Amino acid sequence: MVQDHLDPCFVADMMLGKLARWMRVLGYDVWYKNPVDDETLLAMAREWHRVLMTRDTRLVRRRGVGEYMLIRENDPMDQLMEVVRAYPPDPGHVLGRCVRCNTLLVSAGKEDLKERVPEHVCLTESKFGRCLKCGRVYWQGTHYRQMVRTLRERVGVEEMQERLL
Ligand SMILES: [Zn+2]
Repeated sequence: MVQDHLDPCFVADMMLGKLARWMRVLGYDVWYKNPVDDETLLAMAREWHRVLMTRDTRLVRRRGVGEYMLIRENDPMDQLMEVVRAYPPDPGHVLGRCVRCNTLLVSAGKEDLKERVPEHVCLTESKFGRCLKCGRVYWQGTHYRQMVRTLRERVGVEEMQERLL
């Protein structure tokens, strides 16, 4: 199978939990588990043609490692900038993925979400995204706006199509 470089998928090592979450915010498909052993990481990368994201120079020297990216920065936002430079995000996917479990969100109406969303949110917000796997609901609250601001100001990601929310 040939890796589609327009839409690569990733697997992140245990040290990159924060990066993995922020990558999901930007819409990247990132497999992450903690704890996880090296064999599983390598197998996930190899069998699913995922780019291995790691800080471990020893790991990338292992036999059979495919495409990988060695993360050099310490700060998660600097790490995110490294990723964005190497693999520019697709604006159509930004903010379209569940940060907790990596599943694509579907749009949802208020009527479906009454039990999951605080009442004041239901009154003030009209657009919601929902993860069908873990049930988490997303809306354009303060936290969401803060994330958008961080992406713009800190990471320099300007283009985002707020597809689902
Ligand atoms: Zn989820």
